[in-house]
Amino acid sequence: MQISISAGAVLGIDAQLVNVEVKISPGIKYFLVGLADNAVKEGYYRIEAALESCGIKIPRKKIIVNLAPADLKKVGSCYDLPIASGILLASNKISSSIYKDYIIMGELALNANVLPIKGALSITILAKKLGYKGVVIPEANLQECSLIDGLEIIGVRNLKEVISFLVLGERPKKITDKIIFSDENESLDMLDVKGQTYAKRALCIAAAGGHNIIMIGSPGSGKSMLSKRLSSILPSLSKEESIECTQLFSIAGRLKSNQYINKRPFRAPHHTISNIALVGGGNVPRPGEVSLAHNGVLFLDEMLEFRPSSLEVLRQPMEDCRVNISRAKYQTEFPAKFMLVGAMNPCPCGYLGDPSHSCQCTESIIQKYRSKLSGPLMDRIDIHLHIKAVSYKELTLNSKEEKCSKEWGEIVLKARNRQKNRFCDPILTNGGMSEKLILKHCTLDYNIEEWLKKTLTQLSFSARTYFKLLKLSRTIADVEESINIKKEHLVEAIQLRGLDRVNNY
Ligand SMILES: [Zn+2]
Repeated sequence: MQISISAGAVLGIDAQLVNVEVKISPGIKYFLVGLADNAVKEGYYRIEAALESCGIKIPRKKIIVNLAPADLKKVGSCYDLPIASGILLASNKISSSIYKDYIIMGELALNANVLPIKGALSITILAKKLGYKGVVIPEANLQECSLIDGLEIIGVRNLKEVISFLVLGERPKKITDKIIFSDENESLDMLDVKGQTYAKRALCIAAAGGHNIIMIGSPGSGKSMLSKRLSSILPSLSKEESIECTQLFSIAGRLKSNQYINKRPFRAPHHTISNIALVGGGNVPRPGEVSLAHNGVLFLDEMLEFRPSSLEVLRQPMEDCRVNISRAKYQTEFPAKFMLVGAMNPCPCGYLGDPSHSCQCTESIIQKYRSKLSGPLMDRIDIHLHIKAVSYKELTLNSKEEKCSKEWGEIVLKARNRQKNRFCDPILTNGGMSEKLILKHCTLDYNIEEWLKKTLTQLSFSARTYFKLLKLSRTIADVEESINIKKEHLVEAIQLRGLDRVNNY
């Protein structure tokens, strides 16, 4: 007898349909065909043991399993459950009338428990697109798949529950109500950072306009403390963004059991990270840190310690908001729209410009150190923020005088809403404006324009900086709820472009 069970294979962020065909005929061997990797092949032993745990002997006949389409690579242990279900049905151990309406995926343990899989959410989206009634997936993946409405999500704990569902239509009782939220930084608040009002304001502007930012400051000046709190002032994720982020985390195998992503991601890879781990790829294409930071923040601490090639591979995703991965065996892409936050010391010893330490570096050493920041990468960074250590006066500020993350977040949200009305999708923030859009939306009064040109010449700013300043001042005007860009907005924008000035210390 021959049976076909619906399953899915994830390539990139999307899933494709895979038919698991099982045919049982006289003979004694088990054949698995259809471009399956070792993990799929080894599944036979897991399936045999799992069936035995349920008191079912695998039929001693010729079993042929075909994973169609045959030219699509099947990877991982997630085919155990559809193959086991196919064997049970094809050998008449069970009979079912409903299996055709569901996509079935899951890994089996030897004791017949069903273990979580990668990419369950993408498979659920596929099931909805193709009009299936629902999906049968491991219970640990239930929460992420429940983000999709309009189809039945059946989370199973073990093979017995799968059999009861297929034969009798019995749905397993949901015992998991606990949802693990993504956010380990949930309790972080801008109030935790004493003083630094200027830096907080700069972060607020960066968040409002979606501007990439680099922070320059001595060790201990609070660069990472501030960066970690950036997600706390960004607007909350929309449902669509939450689904995209959860899909990427699921495919990368970074979701905990019963977790989905409901807060903007903050990713801080170490500077020794490999290029593949940073942008994605590998034998089986997996999202890298830039895609895990999608819709959130990518923080590069000690940015100049990263290998030049690592900084180089960031350029394409920063330009296109997605990563293209081309290998001999496949070509795919992952979304990667993130805010880049870099942090660096002002000089190799770290104390240039610090009032309490003296800097030991010569000018040529400082020049060499800074030249590691490649021009093309710096072109994509709108804000240069110099961070000074907190003064005694700031330390003793009454916390009532400082804004908390919620208050900063409200300013950001208002400014974002102004931008939403200004642009049509997909460019939703000032940071993403092309030169054409800048000229359209950042017009200046004649007098201000003349003043700006004069000032730029005096400060020896490049022509390229002109556009950056217009973009930034547009965001500052939005933060100030002003329709027009005023002189004071441009002055603040110039202060946020410290690295452009010659002799900036
Ligand atoms: Zn120094």
